[in-house]
Amino acid sequence: MTTQEQKAIPIPQVEARASIPTQNLRVPGPTVVPPKVQAAQAAPMINHRGPEFAAIMKRVTLRLQYFFQTASPVLIYPASGTGGQESAIVNLFSPGDHIISITIGNFGDRFAKIASAFGLEVTRIDFPWGQAADPAVVEARLKEVAPYRGVLLTHNETSTGVTNDLQTLATLLRRLNPDALIVVDAVSSLGCVQLEMDKWDIDVVLTGSQKGWMIPPGMMMIAASQRAWEAHKSAKLPRFYFDWTLARKSLDSWQNPYTPALSLFYALDVALEMMLAEGREAIFERHARAGEYVRSRAKAMGLKLLSDHKNASNTVTAILAPEGIDTKTLLKKLREEDSVVFATGQDHMRGKMFRMGHLGFFSEADLAQAMDALEKQLHALGFQG
Ligand SMILES: *Cc1c(COP(=O)(O)O)cnc(C)c1O
Repeated sequence: MTTQEQKAIPIPQVEARASIPTQNLRVPGPTVVPPKVQAAQAAPMINHRGPEFAAIMKRVTLRLQYFFQTASPVLIYPASGTGGQESAIVNLFSPGDHIISITIGNFGDRFAKIASAFGLEVTRIDFPWGQAADPAVVEARLKEVAPYRGVLLTHNETSTGVTNDLQTLATLLRRLNPDALIVVDAVSSLGCVQLEMDKWDIDVVLTGSQKGWMIPPGMMMIAASQRAWEAHKSAKLPRFYFDWTLARKSLDSWQNPYTPALSLFYALDVALEMMLAEGREAIFERHARAGEYVRSRAKAMGLKLLSDHKNASNTVTAILAPEGIDTKTLLKKLREEDSVVFATGQDHMRGKMFRMGHLGFFSEADLAQAMDALEKQLHALGFQG
């Protein structure tokens, strides 16, 4: 016997399993999964080293390249978007490298924190929540900083409902420092909003399955330019699971180095088919209409937006809580009485705003129902507008 007393672990007394409700899920990820995609995941398991998987892998990879608008291979990992941020850092840089982090909100902050956690020297260029990165400010700051290896930035900041003018920023960054790696978190924009990776000369683009791709969480997709692959060769940060070299080598035989999330591949295979049928530009237009609709409805109700300007996001809208309205009560009533689920504000904006996702699989009727319910509940809580 050990000196420690042996205690039996009892069978846990927990709530019985309940069925998952069908809701108008209007959070900016996870997003609604189309019935066809949901059904695809029920398919049986296959050997991930066999021909059935290779066929899926080839189809999915090539179609993702089309949506990334790149000739570079797209690597797929079982991870959420944050894993993509970490993957970019460990594959591109060496301890002590100086990098720039342009952040306009919570997810930009996270990217900078990961870089610091891995021992990089991070210079931040921050913008207040609700604003986009101002190219003139970025240019002025970059002219006074020490030499840097790369720049991290967010395409669409999900915490604030702001889309950076990525094309302008990427052009500027390339002009100021032709060798610096431009690393873009496009988790909540890719597949919804225009992003031309190769044409805009962006070095790394990463995204997550549960945002615009109409499949559940758990898959991260990332692509790297020729310049980034060169940098990768000499990058010294420790890495193993996320090592791009192995993933790229496996692609030669349309495989993953490690066991892939097969059910998510089944889902993505169908989702990409649906996206191609709709058309890339048509998808962008649907999101543009959605953003316009949500912003105009909110404003017509007398609500104020965190970002009411040309950089307002077409995938997520951040709505400020009106004076005297408790967002917790409002979101609870919407969830319980209308089956409409919004997201809270993050960080210092918790309780001060709420967010509505309009990305991936949605119809105009879904958005209208959510806005109608919001209007009704606001009136019930005494908001006059
Ligand atoms: C959702 C999201 C992430 C990653 O979050 P996960 O919860 O790890 O998927 C990163 N960046 C942005 C812009 C996001 O919207």
